[in-house]
Amino acid sequence: MAHGDQDLALAEAFPDKLFTRALAQCAATGCSLTALRREVLAAFAASTRPLKAYEIVDRLSTPSRRISPISVYRSLDFLIELGIVHRLATQNAFVLCDHDHAQDETLVFMICQCCGDVDEAVLPGMTRSLAATADAHGFRSRGHSIELQGECEDCRSATSPTGRRG
Ligand SMILES: [Zn+2]
Ligand SMILES: [Zn+2]
Repeated sequence: MAHGDQDLALAEAFPDKLFTRALAQCAATGCSLTALRREVLAAFAASTRPLKAYEIVDRLSTPSRRISPISVYRSLDFLIELGIVHRLATQNAFVLCDHDHAQDETLVFMICQCCGDVDEAVLPGMTRSLAATADAHGFRSRGHSIELQGECEDCRSATSPTGRRG
């Protein structure tokens, strides 16, 4: 098997920044960016939309090589752990993070129900406030993210013939 060709194809599929960041984070945590992890990352890099696990399985599978969903889930868990991929609970999908925020920041995902686009932003100062609220209820939260459903700016201007803002 021509591994060189495959690496070349992967390198082309990667925006350098993403690949460099993944490698740096792997080095910092003493993990390795295995071939499958790289391929999962490449699937995200090649997509403008959030991906569901089965879509990644389909993209990476070939007639001669069927990727198992469990191994894709393991790679996703790894990339989530690194902070390179986020899970969108309401979409049952995963999205690439191209922000350089701290792992414990509270995030807001603005999910367009029209085009499927997802915008991510950090909510500064929210983590402490959410933790305090959870504490007051004796609740231990496992993540800090809020998902908003609605319409993105592009879709809003496309559906508004007058272009007026309400
Ligand atoms: Zn992020
Ligand atoms: Zn949209």
